[in-house]
Formats: sequence, C-alpha cells, structure tokens
Amino acid sequence: PVGAPAARATAWVDTDALARNCRRLADRLGPRRLLCAVVKANGYGHGFELAARAALAGGARWLAVASADEALALRDAGLDARTLVMGALSERELADALRCSADVVVWELGFVERVAQVAQRLGVVARCHIKLDTGMGRLGTRSERTALACAELVATRPSLELAGAMTHFATADELDDDGYFDAQLERFTRLVAILREALGSRFVAHAANSAAVFRDPRSHFDMARCGIAIYGLDPFHEDAHARGLEPVLTLESYLACVKQLDRGESVGYGRTWRAERPTRVGIVPIGYGDGIRRALSNRGWVLVGGRRRPIVGTISMDNLAVDLGPRPEGERIGEPVVLIGGQGEERISAEEVARLLGTINYEVATALAARVRRLPL
Ligand code: PLP
Repeated sequence: PVGAPAARATAWVDTDALARNCRRLADRLGPRRLLCAVVKANGYGHGFELAARAALAGGARWLAVASADEALALRDAGLDARTLVMGALSERELADALRCSADVVVWELGFVERVAQVAQRLGVVARCHIKLDTGMGRLGTRSERTALACAELVATRPSLELAGAMTHFATADELDDDGYFDAQLERFTRLVAILREALGSRFVAHAANSAAVFRDPRSHFDMARCGIAIYGLDPFHEDAHARGLEPVLTLESYLACVKQLDRGESVGYGRTWRAERPTRVGIVPIGYGDGIRRALSNRGWVLVGGRRRPIVGTISMDNLAVDLGPRPEGERIGEPVVLIGGQGEERISAEEVARLLGTINYEVATALAARVRRLPL
C-alpha cells in the first residue's frame, strides 16, 4: 500500500512490525514478566488505537498512557486491556480514570485519601501504584518512608488496592552516566524489598523503559513499560535495525506539482533558496502543519523514486519544495514521496531527522499532527 492512493499526508503504520517488536521485547523479558506498551501521545504519533491493538497482539499485556483523557480514548475505541495512567491527575481526571477502571499513580498521603474518597463515591476499587522518585526528579516521592506510608494507607482502605510500585530512570539511554542508573536501580530495589516485607508480594514492581530493558536485566522486575522500542525506534538514538527493532512508521506524501526554474529563481516564503542552475522543483503537499518541522527548511531530505532529494526553500504550513535536479528522471505527478521510512534501497530514519533537528526520535514521531492520516500497512 505504500504508494497506493496518494493522500496529502499519510502515516503508514506497519502493525505487524509493531507486534514483532513487542514480541522481541517480551522474549527479552522472559515468560514471568509483563510487557506494558506505552501508547501515550497518540501512540508516539503512530495512532494510539493501531499501536495498542498491535502491541496487544504482540504479547503486551498492559497499556500505559499519560492522562485520563488518553485512557478514556482507549476505552472509547473498545480497548479494555489493563491500563495505567502514569501522569498526575486533577480531581476531574482522577474520576475519569477510575470510571474507566484505569490504574493510577500515587506518591503522597493526601492524594491517596482523595483517590480513596473518589473511588468510594464512584463505587469502584482504585488500583494504585506507589511512585518513588529515585532520581528522575519528576513525579514521585523521594522518601522511602512516605512511599511505605502511602502503600500502607492504600492497603487499609477498602476502596483502594495496592497494585504496583514504580520508578522511572533518568539516564537509562546514557551508558556513560557515572553510575546514576545503577544508583536509581539500587534505591528502587531497596524500596521493593521494604514493601514486600511489609505488605507481601502481590503488587507489580516496574521500573524499566525501553532503554533499561536492553541495558540491564536487573531493571526488569515484574513488568517493563516500553514506548519507543515498540515503534521500532532506537532508545539509544542510533540505529534501530542494529538493535533488532523494525521501524513501524512510513510518513508519505506525494508529488503534487513539478516546475522548471531558471537560475536565480526562488521558491517559498522569504526566498531563502534560489536555483543555482536551471532545475526542476517538486511541490509536496505536507508542511509544518503536519508536523514536518520548519527547521528542516533547506536541510532535510525526502525520497522520490527511491532517490534522496533535498528540501529547498522555507517549509510552509501545508507544502514544501524539493530539488529534483536538472534532468527529468521519470518523476510522475502523484507519485509517492517519503519523508520518514524506506523507499527502494534508500531510507530516512526518524533518528536521522532527529539528528538534523538536534532532537530525539521521540519528538520527531510525536510531532506528527492530528490531520496526518494514520493507516495500517
Ligand atoms: N515510563 C514512563 C513513566 C514514561 O514517562 C515513559 C515515556 O516517556 C516510559 C515509561 C516509556 O519510555 P520509552 O519510550 O523510553 O520506552
């Protein structure tokens, strides 16, 4: 289907590849551990519903999102797998999360009481995960005593259930981190031991993100929360293929118009590019309104007919221009143009685009706008 009926901007999602990536991660974790597929931010830009269904088909047992709205969207789409809302929750969001029987994260006694009240009002049992901030410096308590007190409070309230204990690594993707990852791991291991001693072992301990799964089996505990790797993007920002992962996304548009330019003529706003020789320019109807960052103006690449062509001129909201060279090479109006993914022997990876932009593959994928059509491959 890549190259089939041209839409102005299509994200082809290779759901089988996504399922295979999950299978590989699940194999790495072994049969006794769970894989939780992180599908927040619209499945890292890939479309949350396609991503979630494929991940579950590939052996993921849990889903994780950042917000109650994302959990509701999963339920509205008919996905009723166990779902963890990892983010902070306002009063309204908390009620929404509990109403759709999502697990929630707690790290403070006052919030545990609020969860208990809301759960009681709704007549549900709220499954709570205690979050220890072992060094990420984001959500969670820094105090083991507070974490234990939260867990004990959860255990005493009939409207609450102690479902998990979690932390998140700050440097899992940085192998040269002066022992920071190991120190976080050690703190979390200690907390898990304390909680097991006090409350038994029925809760799920989870810490690893994608990078940690590859980096250190000691981080696997009972479950791993994997995002970037399920999409076949490299958690270490280098080469997904070398890591045994298959990229899932092909971002495609098409050649809408081809024009001949004389030397000195320009394309686009501000005339930031002028032809140095007579050449042909192709107009591709995708732009920063679709998530193609304007910083790729005069820097990025596309694939046309399996060949790399440079993006020229300033990227507009809905269009960009590419230099097709002076001689016709058989280009046809309507033929596919790939912005991320492979075409013939050539490939433009999300990692390559990220390097050009000075960012990470996560941001490149997540930047894809809502108006880009997500279609299964
Ligand atoms: N766990 C938490 C708390 C997260 O915020 C994220 C994503 O940022 C993940 C797990 C998944 O991380 P990754 O995409 O690196 O696997």
